[in-house]
Amino acid sequence: MNAWILHEIGGPDSFVLEDVETPLPGPGEVRVRLHVSALNHLDIWSSMGMPKPPLPHVAGADGAGVIDAVGEDVTTVAVGDEVVVNPSIGCGHCDACRRGETSLCDSYKILGEHLWGTLADQVVVPATNVVAKPSILDWEHAGAYGLAYGTAYRMLRRARLRVGDTLLVVGVGGGVSNAAMEIGQVMGAKVFVTSRDPKKIEKAVFSGADGGFLSTEDYGKALKAATGAGADVVVENVGAPTWKASMSVLNKGGRLVTCGGTGGPSVELSLPRLFFKQLEVIGSTMFDVGEFADITRMIADGRVPVTVDSVFAFEDLPGALARMQNGEQFGKIVLRRG
Ligand SMILES: [Zn+2]
Repeated sequence: MNAWILHEIGGPDSFVLEDVETPLPGPGEVRVRLHVSALNHLDIWSSMGMPKPPLPHVAGADGAGVIDAVGEDVTTVAVGDEVVVNPSIGCGHCDACRRGETSLCDSYKILGEHLWGTLADQVVVPATNVVAKPSILDWEHAGAYGLAYGTAYRMLRRARLRVGDTLLVVGVGGGVSNAAMEIGQVMGAKVFVTSRDPKKIEKAVFSGADGGFLSTEDYGKALKAATGAGADVVVENVGAPTWKASMSVLNKGGRLVTCGGTGGPSVELSLPRLFFKQLEVIGSTMFDVGEFADITRMIADGRVPVTVDSVFAFEDLPGALARMQNGEQFGKIVLRRG
């Protein structure tokens, strides 16, 4: 098969397109011939060795295609099934996995980070890590939603977003932020966004957000001016540059949920503000198998739209990565074969 291989850690320019041996599915596993793959920031982090994957490595968490081989003991799916890959992989037998809490698994793995992923013609995953492709989606949208929409859905669940809450999504444009904006609306929240780019704010409002503010200005103040109050829930994945503003915008009893720190990993926490306002800071990563089924259902019945930014040829991974690195995207960047 053709695969974008990482032989050494050296950033996004280190991926090389090569012909490699096609993997075989083991017991309980399936192999998917991918029509599309989608990019995540994770792919850039892997190429930079954060964390360092076992080399040689194939990145890529998201994709959709057709099952072309199944291992022993696979009864739930068959060759020819059209599927979406779920990149959140538990061992299936530790305490957390038995409770259905995949992302708390003792030996938790993310496809494309710890295992060979979807930046290849074919990928092998556990049979429990594929779901039927929603029939209302074309391949590009089916292959795009997995990691971002699953992650955003878990974040909003963990932050206990309620109908009528004000949700602020920091740094709209990226996959998880856009997904949080879309899912937040479906969950009945008033949704506001921030961005450095006024055009992205315009697009967010066009997609149904109630308003947006430049992240270069005091967006806490701007939100209060616009609504008379702060946010009940803030979705963060920027970190250091926005942390102070994101904490100060929270209402009493508010929840800040974070799944990353693209702008820097260390932040300061004001304890008086935390306890006096009874705030919660919540970490969240990926999602469990039930959450992936839930979000797939919400997408399949047309409640949650999947935003695709652009579609590149599989061979043009460098062009696709450059778009993501420059932060130009609004939604998911997809690679298509043929
Ligand atoms: Zn486990």
